[in-house]
Amino acid sequence: MRLSRAFLPVLKESPADAQIVSHKLMLRAGLVRQTAAGIYAWLPLGLRVLRKIERIVREEQDRAGAIEMLMPTLQSADLWRESGRYDAYGPEMLRITDRHKREMLYGPTNEEMLTALFRDDVKSYRDLPRTLYHIQWKFRDEVRPRFGVMRGREFLMKDAYSFDLDEAGARLSYYTQLLAYLRTFQRLGIRAVPMKAASGPIGGDLSHEFIVLAPTGESEVFYDAAFEDFDWNRADLDYSDEAGLHGLFDQVSGTYAATDETHDESRWAQVPVNRQRTGRGIEVGHIFYFGDKYSAAMGLKVSGRDGSPVTPMMGSYGVGVSRLVGAIIEASHDDAGIVWPEAVAPWRVGIVTMRQDDQASADVADDLYARLTAAGVETLYDDRDERGGVKLGSMDLIGLPWQIVIGPRGLAQGVVELKDRRSGEKMELSAESALARLTA
Ligand code: ATP
Ligand code: MG
Repeated sequence: MRLSRAFLPVLKESPADAQIVSHKLMLRAGLVRQTAAGIYAWLPLGLRVLRKIERIVREEQDRAGAIEMLMPTLQSADLWRESGRYDAYGPEMLRITDRHKREMLYGPTNEEMLTALFRDDVKSYRDLPRTLYHIQWKFRDEVRPRFGVMRGREFLMKDAYSFDLDEAGARLSYYTQLLAYLRTFQRLGIRAVPMKAASGPIGGDLSHEFIVLAPTGESEVFYDAAFEDFDWNRADLDYSDEAGLHGLFDQVSGTYAATDETHDESRWAQVPVNRQRTGRGIEVGHIFYFGDKYSAAMGLKVSGRDGSPVTPMMGSYGVGVSRLVGAIIEASHDDAGIVWPEAVAPWRVGIVTMRQDDQASADVADDLYARLTAAGVETLYDDRDERGGVKLGSMDLIGLPWQIVIGPRGLAQGVVELKDRRSGEKMELSAESALARLTA
């Protein structure tokens, strides 16, 4: 993308209405604009990041055997009356009436809808277990939308739902999603620690929140530093290996991690002091098992192996896809701007000419841009007629992993500058070598 033709509005001043760093940076670097309280338009740069996160979430769900579908944002009130949640949900639910005076709502989640779809089409134990998911916008009329996309009213969520014949099967589905989440966050380049969550109204010990550490997080967290060293992609963890999944759950449960809601001082005291980590954290995912809460209330039954009716046991699994954009920035930035992990960077490389009116610089930059693009390296080329310093500032703010800076002085010596945004390390090398390094 050539910046001279892009829609990438960058603000020099820090917006006064943003309280936390990720919100400020998302506005300054032109990722989003608020269009109403807690509702955001995703500008091209923000959308590229959102799509990358979405793709990784999708790939890991697919790898874990979950099946993608797409349910609508608008739902009928009657569906929610079946589970008893229409009245229980309260003012967070945005209720809408259509022209025929039918009561509708903008979905805050989809347990009811998928349970109803299952009830209509799934008849036999042979059709279970199944886990289905979609990535769709949700609406929750939060009392205090704040921190930009972190607590919006309209937000993008991946939500998966599992259906099993019995509790043992449901546990396995839960462990499978647990592993999928650990892998997803590792691939996104952030450390999200699974923390035992307060169990909901139906009890049970199966609920985890995935928390990214950041000083602006809404909850207080305590965890064993051992979580910093686990590699969830190690080869001996396999979705088809039941014993391995049980082992994973034991490992996660046996390593201390809790939010202030579930914190247990006596267990905490057993974690060696040099491994105790405390801080604040942002919830980016939440998984839970809730048994037959919806299936029983909504009359979902399948015929079991012996022909008698069985009520499936369910779980649900959410990832805050749009919240993650903010959470990743909270976890990865410096004074100059965003520092994107490679996996979610809107582009991998930024080319900056110090003087676009210098023909030799423009030629080298044009050529590098064409060849990087041809090699499939996503590249943003700042070809604007702006002062070099301003362009460098915007490039740091936008936070692409690599920068190539091209100016008349370097070119006189036959070199360009290659900068690693994260370490700040700069190298002078020929344009050919820079190209070779970035396409290797
Ligand atoms: P929170 O405790 O932050 O209000 P929640 O527990 O109500 O979230 P869940 O129902 O568990 O949220 O939803 C799954 C995920 O969706 C959360 O882990 C979070 O990442 C994301 N999410 C929830 N509410 C919002 C929101 N208002 N804005 C952006 N993302 C959200
Ligand atoms: Mg939650």
